[in-house]
Amino acid sequence: SNTPVTVLGLGDMGRALARALLKAGHRTTVWNRTAAKAEALVAEGALRAETVAEAVAASPLVVVCLLDYDSVRQTLDPVAGALSGTAVANLTSGTPRQAREMAAWAAERGADYLDGGIMAVPPMIATPAAFVLYSGSRSVFETHRAALDALAQSHYLGEDAALAPLQDIALLSGMYGMFSGILHAFALTGSEGIKAADFAPMLQRWLNSMSGAVAGFAAQIDSGDHAQGVVSNLAMQAAAYHHLLEAAEEQGVSPELLAPLGPLMARRVADGHGHEDLSGLVHLLRTRA
Ligand code: NDP
Repeated sequence: SNTPVTVLGLGDMGRALARALLKAGHRTTVWNRTAAKAEALVAEGALRAETVAEAVAASPLVVVCLLDYDSVRQTLDPVAGALSGTAVANLTSGTPRQAREMAAWAAERGADYLDGGIMAVPPMIATPAAFVLYSGSRSVFETHRAALDALAQSHYLGEDAALAPLQDIALLSGMYGMFSGILHAFALTGSEGIKAADFAPMLQRWLNSMSGAVAGFAAQIDSGDHAQGVVSNLAMQAAAYHHLLEAAEEQGVSPELLAPLGPLMARRVADGHGHEDLSGLVHLLRTRA
């Protein structure tokens, strides 16, 4: 009695999702703009829809995983009249605003809309390492929980469709900040001929230990007391940060990935917050009240 599911979009991610649904025993109908990408899945038991209309009619749950929201609109606009009563789970990456607009678009057409942000790369789908953030229709999430759980661990964040993409993008922002630091660190060690593989274990150890700062920053941000539990005060950190930029210059490494934090720290210190922690910088980042 597994729910039949349709998957629109058979790129690297869509194919992984469709395969996970097939493996979990769902009757899985697939559609892709370039039809050839469906062949391997059809050989594994998926049903091929010749048109988007056929694909949408085949299942009560339609999982969408296309390149971006523009491609989702281009794909769904022509079948908008047939979406009434359909549960749409859109796992395409986008911004919070795009998700809200998509939810409104779907509501006008009587579709039940769930937005999703996939926190995994395709090989991680259907493994314990993968999770997906969902927001929007609670009833789609609850009714189709079993199918969604076949893809990854599911986290429902609330009725506002923007919540999943917001937190997805926040997680990726944290990740890219970390990646920036990693690349800069390797460029620095490489400037003296140190092999990346030789430095990597130490970098990994340091990042693992420093990721422990997340909870402390969160407590300071929520209480508004950025001096609470401070170990390394900002005035000291701002001075030390200058060494990072100087060393990059001396070693012939571009400081561009690292540079933006320096002036922010200096501004915060100049504003009289030198005794506090780094977490107070969030006040300088918010450009909207
Ligand atoms: P791919 O580039 O592999 O696939 C893109 C898909 O979008 C293809 O099915 C393509 O069809 C389709 N497409 C593009 N433009 C249009 C259009 N105008 N009309 C109809 N179909 C269109 O990307 P992925 O599968 O990797 O990614 C899909 C989504 O999943 C993206 O939003 C991505 O950000 C997200 N995601 C991907 C992750 C990853 O690691 N791969 C991780 C987390 C999220 P065609 O085959 O005809 O070109």
